[in-house]
Amino acid sequence: MRYASAGFEVIAITDHVDYSNIKAVIPAILNFTRHWPKNSPIQVLAGIELTHLPPRQFKPLARYARKKGIKVIVAHGESPAEPVIEGTNHAALESDIDILAHPGNITEEDVKLARDKGIFLEITTRRGHRAGNYHVAHLAMRYGAKLILGTDSHDPEDIISYSEMKRNALKNGISGQQVEIILHDVREFLRRKGAKC
Ligand SMILES: [Zn+2]
Repeated sequence: MRYASAGFEVIAITDHVDYSNIKAVIPAILNFTRHWPKNSPIQVLAGIELTHLPPRQFKPLARYARKKGIKVIVAHGESPAEPVIEGTNHAALESDIDILAHPGNITEEDVKLARDKGIFLEITTRRGHRAGNYHVAHLAMRYGAKLILGTDSHDPEDIISYSEMKRNALKNGISGQQVEIILHDVREFLRRKGAKC
């Protein structure tokens, strides 16, 4: 409900998963979203964030999550703030994910792969992760990959308004017009995932 009061219509809850907890987390999140009242001011989509995986595990775990009914599959990318295994961005993009979060110093080849597969690259407000924003935005716009604005919220104070997220985008060289395109792409994505927005 904190998101509803910050003005959001739809959120995806994307808990961190790997082989240790994916079998427990997925039914829990599906149980939550299936019981969420249909007439609530905010809609909740079932998601996960594949986090700190050895690269070869992205494909099987993304496939598993999709089969179980997870709508929004995020992969924790090669953030400048938290070390992950080199090759994580590429392995994640080759699997069936929707969003590559905080991909940091992503290569041109991987940006093109994201574009070709229609995978969103995240521009984040999260401290540390956000050091990669400018690079990600710049390459995504150059090669026509889709961007999404995220917060990587873990605590109530991470929840910010849409206008703060937009300010963060503008600060990273994304134009107002580009922000409109992002909103359009994200809305279309959410509708495809079953949200009414
Ligand atoms: Zn992450």
